[in-house]
Amino acid sequence: MTTMYYEQNINGDILKGKKIAIIGYGSQGHAHALNLKDSGYDVVVGVRPGGSFDAAKADGVDVKTVAEAAKEADVIQILLPDERQKAVYENEIAPNLEAGNALMFAHGFNIHFGQITPPADVDVFLVAPKGPGHLVRRQFEQGAGVPGLFAIHQDATGQAKDIALAYGKGIGSARGGLLETTFKEETETDLFGEQAVLCGGATALVQAGFETLVEAGYQPELAYFETLHELKLIVDLMFEGGLETMRYSISDTAEWGDYVAGPRVVDADTKSRMKDILTDIQSGKFAREWIEENENGRPNYTKFKEDGKNHQIEEVGRKLRAMMPFINENKKEVVRETSA
Ligand code: NDP
Ligand code: MG
Ligand code: MG
Repeated sequence: MTTMYYEQNINGDILKGKKIAIIGYGSQGHAHALNLKDSGYDVVVGVRPGGSFDAAKADGVDVKTVAEAAKEADVIQILLPDERQKAVYENEIAPNLEAGNALMFAHGFNIHFGQITPPADVDVFLVAPKGPGHLVRRQFEQGAGVPGLFAIHQDATGQAKDIALAYGKGIGSARGGLLETTFKEETETDLFGEQAVLCGGATALVQAGFETLVEAGYQPELAYFETLHELKLIVDLMFEGGLETMRYSISDTAEWGDYVAGPRVVDADTKSRMKDILTDIQSGKFAREWIEENENGRPNYTKFKEDGKNHQIEEVGRKLRAMMPFINENKKEVVRETSA
């Protein structure tokens, strides 16, 4: 059985008196910095001049250059985009690391795929909330917490696990539960989840459903409500009580359709392609291609992003959401995080 760690079993004192540098102030960065600060810890943010720097200042956080923050900190959490971490680490963080410091991540990509190799005399571990940064912040403020993973790559001080747990408690993740994993398991499952199910799988499913209805002559607005808007309502029920609660709440007709049509959409072939996706992650093929895409200036990424923005479902959705201000309450922070 997996051991879960919860708030009441974690002593956060080990982080008291330590200076924690949060490198980056985007989706995860702002949430970690503000939650740790509210938990009573000594936080400094390290980020380049620009939008994030100004946002941190406006939020009342102590903010410096990456090098300055890394230099004065005992614990350094790298919350930069994964593909930029190697360069920033080499130029601004590594020269400021001291023996006994802790180097942290929220995703194992750069350690697991050998992009960053820290010196042997620092602790290296990750604490990764299993949710977007703006929810890590919002739930913390509401007294809840997004569950998280932690993993120890290197334990130079003998305290890595205690520091990781205290950190997980400080950002509120121990309220939802902290699960111990390895860098390998966290990296591979995180990439698989976002590719096959959460982001790739879900967006492809929604778009294909929308296109099927529109191509058959149904109104695009109706197709938007049916395939995108309503998905959140269904997923909320799954979140609250699993598939059973969702199926309890929908009509018996919908439930019957679920059983007979679901396996026609996602069949053995789909699952076999999911396995191929997992294989590419495990072999390092996905990581190599993504690193290469970045080295080439992101030509495909830019095209995919543009195509996505221009898809009819987005045009229709923008119009409809503008008439539903109540669903846009949290949009400001989402926009900030996606534009970071
Ligand atoms: P974001 O893209 O939201 O934020 C990145 C931050 O890094 C921004 O503040 C950006 O500032 C800053 N930055 C970028 N380049 C540099 C640079 N060269 N020097 C200094 N600062 C820079 O990242 P995420 O929060 O999405 O991701 C951070 C980490 O967290 C990743 O490892 C990711 O895998 C992990 N993670 C992310 C989750 C999420 O919900 N997004 C979930 C769980 C883990 P600027 O405004 O100047 O660009
Ligand atoms: Mg991820
Ligand atoms: Mg219906």
